[in-house]
Amino acid sequence: MSVDVSDVAAVAEDVESFRTRAREWIRGNLGPFRPETAMGLRSVPAEEELAAVAYDRQLQRKVYDAGFAGIAIPREYGGQGLTAAHQRAFNEELAGYECATRFQIPTMCPCAAVLLDFGTEEQKIRHIPAMLRGEEIWMQFLSEPSGGSDVAGALTSAVRDGDEWVLNGSKVWTTGAWWSDWALCLARTNWDVPKHRGLSVFILPIKQSGVDVHQIEMLNGAKDFCQEFLTDVRVPDTDRVGAVDDGWTVVTRWMFHERTLFNSPYVTYPQGQVHTVADASPADIARDAGVLDDPRARDLIGEARTLDVVGDALMQRIAGGMRAGRISDQSAAIGRLYRGIAGTRTATIKFDIAGPDAAAWSDDDGGISQAGNGFLMRQTACIGGGTTEMARNVISERVLGFPREQLPDRNVPFREVPRGGSR
Ligand SMILES: Cc1cc2nc3c(=O)[nH]c(=O)nc-3n(C[C@H](O)[C@H](O)[C@H](O)COP(=O)(O)OP(=O)(O)OC[C@H]3O[C@@H](n4cnc5c(N)ncnc54)[C@H](O)[C@@H]3O)c2cc1C
Repeated sequence: MSVDVSDVAAVAEDVESFRTRAREWIRGNLGPFRPETAMGLRSVPAEEELAAVAYDRQLQRKVYDAGFAGIAIPREYGGQGLTAAHQRAFNEELAGYECATRFQIPTMCPCAAVLLDFGTEEQKIRHIPAMLRGEEIWMQFLSEPSGGSDVAGALTSAVRDGDEWVLNGSKVWTTGAWWSDWALCLARTNWDVPKHRGLSVFILPIKQSGVDVHQIEMLNGAKDFCQEFLTDVRVPDTDRVGAVDDGWTVVTRWMFHERTLFNSPYVTYPQGQVHTVADASPADIARDAGVLDDPRARDLIGEARTLDVVGDALMQRIAGGMRAGRISDQSAAIGRLYRGIAGTRTATIKFDIAGPDAAAWSDDDGGISQAGNGFLMRQTACIGGGTTEMARNVISERVLGFPREQLPDRNVPFREVPRGGSR
């Protein structure tokens, strides 16, 4: 059952007075946004990343104590019980200020959002306030080595044993799993029905025996990506989310929340902040590279700014349309597609502005080093959170109503689907 975050009837404070109160608190209590501490795929020593995680926990607690955490989350789950419009006002006032990024994506969205939609009362009361207090960081155990885009093809199995389930398998590409607390995990509970009908969703603590987390080194040296091996992990049935074998219903909504991300009413994130690994603005990079007056650099700065402005307007339009029921929830894929393409283009723009130094930077090169790093990692914007190709599929099939992609395994019991020896 989804929570109606636009229910203005329950609102005690109007958006503008809330905005004024939020602005005063933010200016008096938060420091400037520091991209170097934000969650991302950064190549930093493990101690530095752990210090950033600890700082995020404190920061989230500070926001919670001030009464600004979970603005559109119902009060019974530790939130403020306000609306998406209040959350947006807070995010606008937060522009330029620090934010506990690790408690937003994927903790609040999609994980908390999925719990709100499908969790039991006990699950919501146990976990959502803990997330809001900065005590639980959540990750998505969705992708698998055998194929991330084919989410319904999950091979991780969950076998019922009395009041428990026993999970075995492997998940991969989980950002930050090595320092996170809980996971939302998709597993196969029935091999004798077609793939979409034999899945279930579970929640589980990451730091437990049977969950083996390996860090993966990426192109830029970052080791935040992880692969997890699950060996006889026991999960109580009370930690199942949604009905047995009906995980696809949960996952469809999970994907919707994942595509909404920074535009979700549950996410506190500075409005207009560039969402790539390199957060120095194109103008900052041009200044550092000494080309601020160069006409070509100025054109590129203009193009990047246009992408930002158009992106913000598009996201607001999509979110507003979905909230009002004017467009389908599947339209979130349009935002996801735009974010991917614009993020990749912005990373390329920054690299072009920075010039040759971006190809061989040193750590004290400021924005120039970020431009080089961002260029190396630019394709992540089109892959993470589902690829842009998959977003195009969703837009074509579910928003525009074009014919469905051919799926040869759609009506075949999953046990009989050929899998190239991966099982
Ligand atoms: C920055 C980042 C963060 C991530 N964080 C997480 C995380 O926290 N948790 C998690 O579970 N996963 C995470 N992922 C994994 C991500 O969701 C997967 O990489 C993604 O779903 C693609 O899966 P894949 O890599 O297996 O590619 P594949 O599914 O093998 O796809 C390969 C290529 O084929 C295309 N393709 C595949 N099927 C189709 C189709 N039917 N139609 C058109 N094109 C198709 C894909 O778009 C892609 O270009 C993250 C990835 C990145 C880059």
